[in-house]
Amino acid sequence: MSILSRFAPSPTGYLHLGHAYSAWQVFRRANILRLRLEDIDTTRCRPEFYAAIQEDLTWLGLAWQGEIRVQSQHFPEYATALAHLRERGLLYPCFCSRADIARAITAPHGAEALYPGTCRHLSAAERAEKIASGAPYALRLNVKTASAQAGPLKFHEDQKGWITAEPERLGDVVLARREIPASYHLCVVHDDALQNITHIIRGEDLFEATHIHALLQALLGLPTPAYAHHKLLTGPDGKRLAKRDHAATLREMRAAGTTAASILNNFEGA
Ligand code: GLU
Repeated sequence: MSILSRFAPSPTGYLHLGHAYSAWQVFRRANILRLRLEDIDTTRCRPEFYAAIQEDLTWLGLAWQGEIRVQSQHFPEYATALAHLRERGLLYPCFCSRADIARAITAPHGAEALYPGTCRHLSAAERAEKIASGAPYALRLNVKTASAQAGPLKFHEDQKGWITAEPERLGDVVLARREIPASYHLCVVHDDALQNITHIIRGEDLFEATHIHALLQALLGLPTPAYAHHKLLTGPDGKRLAKRDHAATLREMRAAGTTAASILNNFEGA
């Protein structure tokens, strides 16, 4: 069976060792590798990072095939998918600020608190009034209604086997905002189908998101690929490598004399 997968970084910084590990995990299992740049949050992306990602992957010898999918060039396609969900009555406007949500939540769930559903209960008149007053809002998926429409769903995870999707684990996720008219969740399922991805290989930090992705795929009539979630590389402090913690970038390592072969060899034993 041919395994078509993708590496989908966001051009918000230079790639570090954690990205290289993820790209390598995809590369070693896939027969065909696509490259996608997830840059819908255009405010956080910078032109130099687009070229640097390609340069760093080429340096590592992790070759992709076909055209690079650059998400920010396709907002109208995501708008169509969003409209489809809206027509089915599955979206509602949420006027809460991040601070409102934090205040309303008493029991944090994991790293990220679940949205308590405040605006789900607004009447049509209240919504219309707020929208008319120009209040900014995000569009959230009504996960309970959406799950009821979609019926029971399953997805296959490489190490865990068949899993019953529990999309409510992430709550009513945001699918669009004024500044960013499509969310990661929406764009990723759209593009995975568009690029005919058969296997998604990504970090285990995205395992929870897979539950919501299975739901969105069902709602949008898209196939659910097979999933594998690899462990995350951690630094000496035991925390996952992250851009915000200034993990050494691949280009810094390269400048310091590290070879691509030594990086990939280390992954073999990781
Ligand atoms: N763009 C995501 C990231 O950089 C990856 C998304 C995915 O693999 O589904 O973390």
